[in-house]
Formats: sequence, C-alpha cells, structure tokens
Amino acid sequence: GTPPTKPMVLAPRRPTRKIKVGTTYIGGDAPIAVQSMTTTLTSNINATLQQIAELTAAGCDIVRVAVPSQDDADALPAIAAKSKIPVVADIHFQPRYVFAAIEAGCAKVRVNPGNIKAFDDKIADIARAATDHGTSIRIGVNAGSLDQRLRPMYEADPAGALVQSALNEAALFEEVGFFDFAISVKHHDPVIMVDAYRRLSQACDYPLHLGVTEAGPAFQGTIKSATAFGALLAEGIGDTIRVSLSAPPVEEVKVGIKILESLNLRPRQFEIVSCPSCGRAQVDVYKLANDVTEGLKEITAPIRVAVMGCVVNGPGEAREADLGVASGNGRGQIFVHGEVIATVPEDEIVQTLIAEANRIAAEITES
Ligand code: SF4
Repeated sequence: GTPPTKPMVLAPRRPTRKIKVGTTYIGGDAPIAVQSMTTTLTSNINATLQQIAELTAAGCDIVRVAVPSQDDADALPAIAAKSKIPVVADIHFQPRYVFAAIEAGCAKVRVNPGNIKAFDDKIADIARAATDHGTSIRIGVNAGSLDQRLRPMYEADPAGALVQSALNEAALFEEVGFFDFAISVKHHDPVIMVDAYRRLSQACDYPLHLGVTEAGPAFQGTIKSATAFGALLAEGIGDTIRVSLSAPPVEEVKVGIKILESLNLRPRQFEIVSCPSCGRAQVDVYKLANDVTEGLKEITAPIRVAVMGCVVNGPGEAREADLGVASGNGRGQIFVHGEVIATVPEDEIVQTLIAEANRIAAEITES
C-alpha cells in the first residue's frame, strides 16, 4: 500500500523545554499529554486507585490527586507506587505536603503561588528535594486564588496579572537553579485564558499546561475548553491539557482526547461523520447515527464511518470514509473503502455497519 501521509497540523508546536513527569514527558517533542483529576478522597487509597485505573483505560496520560490533609499525604506513597500513570499531587496552603508528595514518589507536584503562605522562603528546599527525587513542579496560577499582591493589577489587566504571578514564581525557582517546571494560568473566561497563555508563551519557554478552570457542566465546559484550547493549540501553544468539567473525570479525558484528535495533534481514532439531516432526509438520521455510535463504541481502531441521510452528499461522504451508509427509499447503500458492497433494508443498516466495522478493525489490528 501507499505510505501513510503525516496529517496536516495548523501550526508548528512552539518550542518548549522538556520536563520529565515520572515515566513520561511534557514539552519539547513529547506528545501533548491529556490530564485529569480524581474526585475520590485521596485518603481512600482503593477508591482513588480504582478511579485512576478507569482514567488510564480511557486514555488519560497523567493524573492529579488533591492533598488537602495529612491523611491524603499519607496515602500518596501507595497511590504513586500502584498507579500505572504518573501521579501529580495538588497542594494548596501547606508547604509540608509538598515535601511529603516529593518523598512519596509523586511524579510532579502542583503548587499554587497564590495561596501557599511562606512558600517563597521554602523554594530552595523544595527545589533541592525535587531535584533529589527527580520530581517536576507545576506552577499553577488560578484567577480564583491569585496572589493578593497582584489583585490591583488584576482589576486592570486580568491576563497580565496571571502571567505576572507565574513569572514571579518561576523567577524564584530559576534563582535556585531549578527549571523542571510547567506553568498554568487558568481562568474561567476563555478570552482571558487565551490572552494569558499567548502572553506567557511569548515570555518564557516552559511547557504550558492548558486549562479553563471551573468551565462548568459537561456541555458548557466542553465548548469553553474546546474553544480556548483550540485557539491556542492551533497556534502551537500547549504541551499538556486538562479539561475541567462538573462531570465524571473520564468525560474530561474523552473530551481532551477528541480536542487533540480534531486538530491532528494525536492520531484520530474511531470517528463518525454524520449529516445533520434536513428536509431531504429519507431516514431518521439522529437515530441511525446514535445507533451506529452505540453499536460501534467498543471499536478503537482508526476507522471513519459516514452516516448520511440521503443521496445528495451521502455517496460522496460515504465513499471518502472507510465505511459508510447512504440512505434512501427505505434502503441503505453500504460503502467500504469507496465501493458499494451491499444495499440492505433500513432495519439492517446498523447490524451491517457493525459487522463491517468489526471486520475492518480486525484487518487493521492484523496488519
Ligand atoms: Fe440533508 Fe442529505 Fe445532506 Fe443529510 S446528506 S443533510 S439528508 S442533504
């Protein structure tokens, strides 16, 4: 066959420093990593490991756990040892948990420069401990917990204040010779968030962790994150992403992966191309698309399946996909790699597509 062509991307990736995060990397030429955060009590080791396993199965690359108490800090060694993906400890307020997380074997520690009191005095010690253990750091600035000293600036220039807070903290680490950190400047407003990351990317070459914080429930959060990440990723900005949803974290991972796939920043997996339907449709397109999506949900092979409501764009799209159906007159023409292989009655469309998709997936896995 013909050699696979590299899919087009919209901009070259901005060159960034590469940092080690346990068994993986962020920045440089490392693939853009998808992150999420557990919602279990971290002190409940079994529940947390169970959720991490679910996230890992969904394709999550790096997982973060909250460490609000000593019990949570005490759980970190077991979680870090048993997780199959790198674990990041999320620390607010308490510098001593930073040391606990580093010693526990966490791959990275997220610190919030806005709310760790007396944190600045401990930077040298943190940097030394992190270097000794091969732990990286994320300087995680968040509009909701911005350093009080930057509040006046924030009123006039929110994005500028987020960036300033991050750069101040970065300078403190740099002064003690520590450079293994990523930065995030999260805001709930995609416009301010994009502005902040653009400016940050001009000001430094540290890897950037993208996030729209408190983005909302699944529908709104997905759109806000996709819009903001899309704008930045299309400019080559962003080395790791976390979609924040008021929804189970596996959903965050699915959305994150789809955003990267949509921009060819990760190989596309299974994909449905279905028409929106219109007055020409000769079949219930919504139902057909849902039934096909449901029937093919276990398929992970990179197959594109077209589900089209009529013969206007139907045959064309169905021909360009690996597999497709163009419906009309109570029948469906089934296409495989551009050839009509069968015309089946409407009530057999779904089962035929499922059978063909499984056959194509098996072929791909074998080759
Ligand atoms: Fe309408 Fe046919 Fe296009 Fe679907 S494929 S949107 S039914 S014209």
